[in-house]
Amino acid sequence: MGEYKFSIEKLPEVVSGLKEYRVYAPVKEEEGEVVRYKLIDENTRMSIGAGEEFSNSNVPPKELMFPETETLFKFHLGEGRMEAPSLDDKRVVLGIRPCDAQACSIVDNLFGWDFADPYYQKRRENTVLVGLACSSPCSNCFCPSLGGGPAEEKYLDAIMFDLGDTLYLRTITEKGEELAGALSGVLESATDAEKSAAEKQAGEALEKIKRSVDTKGIPEKLPSLYDHPMWEQFSDRCLGCGICTFLCPTCHCFDIQDEVECFDARRARMWDSCMFSEYTVHASGHNPRPTRKQRTRNRISHKYSYFPEKFDVIACVGCGRCINYCPVNIDILDILEKTKEARAKEEKTA
Ligand code: SF4
Ligand code: SF4
Repeated sequence: MGEYKFSIEKLPEVVSGLKEYRVYAPVKEEEGEVVRYKLIDENTRMSIGAGEEFSNSNVPPKELMFPETETLFKFHLGEGRMEAPSLDDKRVVLGIRPCDAQACSIVDNLFGWDFADPYYQKRRENTVLVGLACSSPCSNCFCPSLGGGPAEEKYLDAIMFDLGDTLYLRTITEKGEELAGALSGVLESATDAEKSAAEKQAGEALEKIKRSVDTKGIPEKLPSLYDHPMWEQFSDRCLGCGICTFLCPTCHCFDIQDEVECFDARRARMWDSCMFSEYTVHASGHNPRPTRKQRTRNRISHKYSYFPEKFDVIACVGCGRCINYCPVNIDILDILEKTKEARAKEEKTA
């Protein structure tokens, strides 16, 4: 595929050149420091290039395929009339990190499993993922442990490297090349020096990642640790706030509710969290997971055992968000290390 470049000053021209698409990019919210993906135009200040050094968005771009709250359809009581949202818009996500693109490929399994979810799938099909390679991974990133990397291309349609004054763009798929075609007036061919600079940056970024876990054997081991005291130790300070799941790019639990106002109503889907006590409450009032110990065990087991058993892939990409934002410093890598210790101990005594 193609190798291009454009001056960082031309970023607004790139956005205006993508007239046929709705363009989303990481943007710092006006109040506070939160970065999340928003619909932008050529006048929006994006967190891409021009000294915008940040490791990754606080809120993952999963919300672009699977919104925090979405109307599935509206209905009008007594009229037998229903309206569903249009999902036909072509979209580009500019600056998605390789780990978050990998997360999309993991979540695809769920929304295409026993029921092909048209809302998720339509958005996914109509979206072009243009990545931005990480030059400053966060201190808790461990993406290489899950098969990713700061410049991993596998799940992207194109990838950009921030080389200072210039963004180097490499297209990976037909969708990416089509997008480059729409920008023929802005893009120039990349030089060998720029390609080398991108490769160098990728190697340096990889070196900066200091945390890791060897995942071998964890999916098989977790079920036998069901009654291990570690679950109590790790969960006793959990607040049940749900941040680790809401900000995880692979978490995908949702609730569906009907909301009625006079004769107008809507069926809406919204994120839910297995870390909430109400999540598993039955209509009878019985709750099979009444404690934080059980909920923590379920969160980790779902990602590292149940999901790989079903879909042959671990539902974690090592983005580090659940570690960075847990208000009481519960660290998934500590839990996984403990799992490995338990496994090693068992092997030794066998
Ligand atoms: S479990 Fe934690 S590290 Fe893994 S993808 Fe989710 S937020 Fe990132
Ligand atoms: S972010 Fe931390 S405190 Fe909040 S639910 Fe998750 S593990 Fe518990």
